[in-house]
Amino acid sequence: MTTAAQTAVKTETNMASIAFAAFLGLSVLFITGFASSATLHDTAHDMRHAIGFACH
Ligand SMILES: [Zn+2]
Repeated sequence: MTTAAQTAVKTETNMASIAFAAFLGLSVLFITGFASSATLHDTAHDMRHAIGFACH
């Protein structure tokens, strides 16, 4: 394999991981953005009770 080919493969791998990370980040943003705030609140509330954090 030539040095140029190795560089090309490495660049493709970096692009794939950047694209994957961006996709993951955007997914989280969209999921939290479109989920109803009540659902998010209930989940946070359940987590608070699950870890024994004083709540009410
Ligand atoms: Zn509570």
